[in-house]
Amino acid sequence: MLIDLQSDDELAFLTAVRRDLHAHPELGFEEERTARVVAEILADAGIAVHRGLGKTGVVGTLSCGTGEGTIALRADMDALAMPETADRPYKSTIDGKMHACGHDGHTTMLLGAARHLARTRDFSGTVHFIFQPAEEGRGGARRMVEDGLFDLFPSDAVFGLHNMPGLAVNEMAVVAGPQLASSDSWTVTMRGIGTHGAKPHLGRDAVTASGHFLSALQTIVGRVVDPLQPAVVSACSLRAGDPEALNVIPDTVEIGGTARAYSPEVRDQLESEIGRLCDGIARTFDLKADYRYIRRIPPVVNHPDSAADALRVARDVCTGSVRTDFAPSTAGDDFAFLNQDIPGAYVWLGNGPAVDGALHHNTAYDFNDDAISTGVSFWVRLVEQQLGGNGTAT
Ligand SMILES: [Zn+2]
Ligand SMILES: [Zn+2]
Repeated sequence: MLIDLQSDDELAFLTAVRRDLHAHPELGFEEERTARVVAEILADAGIAVHRGLGKTGVVGTLSCGTGEGTIALRADMDALAMPETADRPYKSTIDGKMHACGHDGHTTMLLGAARHLARTRDFSGTVHFIFQPAEEGRGGARRMVEDGLFDLFPSDAVFGLHNMPGLAVNEMAVVAGPQLASSDSWTVTMRGIGTHGAKPHLGRDAVTASGHFLSALQTIVGRVVDPLQPAVVSACSLRAGDPEALNVIPDTVEIGGTARAYSPEVRDQLESEIGRLCDGIARTFDLKADYRYIRRIPPVVNHPDSAADALRVARDVCTGSVRTDFAPSTAGDDFAFLNQDIPGAYVWLGNGPAVDGALHHNTAYDFNDDAISTGVSFWVRLVEQQLGGNGTAT
């Protein structure tokens, strides 16, 4: 069941917080104002506040009863470096920055849940409210983990939530297994011996070798990876020679690209297979080759138990449908660093129809405040379910 936010004007309070955050967007690791707002609201609710993890990250901790269970809930706080084009009373006040991914809504809903749980205290155990900086490609979750997040705040399970336009505000999607792809980069440098274009036999031709490498590259997905496992390997950059020097075979060719997968095993496979092709082709053509695979973000994979728990709660709070057939996204989310070593689930909360076609990362996007009730209710009921019973509720 939805919790009642209408009493004591809580919904009006949260809506005002959300719009204030929207008007004051901050980029990754620069969320000084946002972190201050978050810390003040948590402290006002009587919640212990820890600041400075991952530079601007904030963790609120609320314990209740004698239960030893712990749960971590994560919201991201950062905005994007893009201008807001739509006119609204709470439009971004900062040129070139806007909340175009709805993280203002995520922060607000987790604050709403923290306030509610601090009041009702109908659970027994400990909940950590994680307000993460820099989700948008700047590595905030990894920084928090490296700064000791789960050493300071050990957690049995961690949950994340993202708004999703296209689903109604009273709908959610909760699916076990892969949700978001890994997002890695790779580079290959073929090192030959440059020579006169008319005398290739006097050198070692890195350009021809690179052609063989590129045409073999798609055999990784086509012939090596299990056909039932999605994977992408793309060469996206190629640099060699000079169009002004068409009689010169260059010394080196630099190639770079991306690799995506939905399982850690396939991700490992892509890393080793690109390297194997690179080595093999270099040896065939008697060149040297350098290979680098840069692991950026692991895939987000929902643990079956955590997904089942989240699904039960979603079905309880959503007055609309709960989707269990929602397709994974090819985007990434560094929530993956949080649920790598402990069970967890990442769920989607409906954000209503895309207004004027504006989706995530569009200059007119806006989080839909009508989703706040469902989001806060989901977090509250999830804590009550995971840390159920014997709280100090009166
Ligand atoms: Zn985003
Ligand atoms: Zn986002």
